[in-house]
Amino acid sequence: MAEHLPKHRILTLIGPPGVGKGTIAELLVKKLGIPHISTGDLFRNAMNGRHVLDKKIGTYMRKNKFVPDSITLPFIFHELTKRKYKNGVILDGFPRTLVQAKALETHAKNTPHVDLAILLNAPTRILQKRLSSRMICATCRTVFNIHSRPPKLRGICDVCGGALVWRDDDKPTVVLQRLRDYKQLTAPIVRFYCTSNRLIQIDADATPKVILHCLIEAIAQKGF
Ligand SMILES: [Zn+2]
Repeated sequence: MAEHLPKHRILTLIGPPGVGKGTIAELLVKKLGIPHISTGDLFRNAMNGRHVLDKKIGTYMRKNKFVPDSITLPFIFHELTKRKYKNGVILDGFPRTLVQAKALETHAKNTPHVDLAILLNAPTRILQKRLSSRMICATCRTVFNIHSRPPKLRGICDVCGGALVWRDDDKPTVVLQRLRDYKQLTAPIVRFYCTSNRLIQIDADATPKVILHCLIEAIAQKGF
């Protein structure tokens, strides 16, 4: 399948926190054979870095604030120059704003490419439930889920015996604010991809297998 596809492909995943973008991204990586960038993971890794941009990112992350475009754009575009993305990339968490979406388009315009945005939707009450059920090991960062991946002992990491905690941005008070921020920030980019006929909308309140199946069909119909 991969041999017949255009040379460079940019697939953008859009969806509220807790919708399961990471899981879907992993499945798409396997199915499409192109790597995945999670901006959240990149930023969390950068927090401990020594580069000027890493330090700036750390400042915003520790305050639980969105990293501004003046830092995000050079950071992501530098990442995209790496060889592993030569055939394309699945982006998760970027572009997050209309400015970023337009900047990505400008950045990619000299390379023949196809880009599509996938919007994963789920009701707010389901997102809240999912987000409050996710816990992470304070020591080794392994992620658990009270419902779908419970630890053998409550509150204790199976891997290293460390304490399970909420990630700062999964705390209940922060969750609602994140969902509000998400809606406000993504509405313009959803419109941007929709009006240029590059948006695929998927109901993410289903099993990952079903979601992937629907997605692959929708992607094929768009000529990706
Ligand atoms: Zn652990």
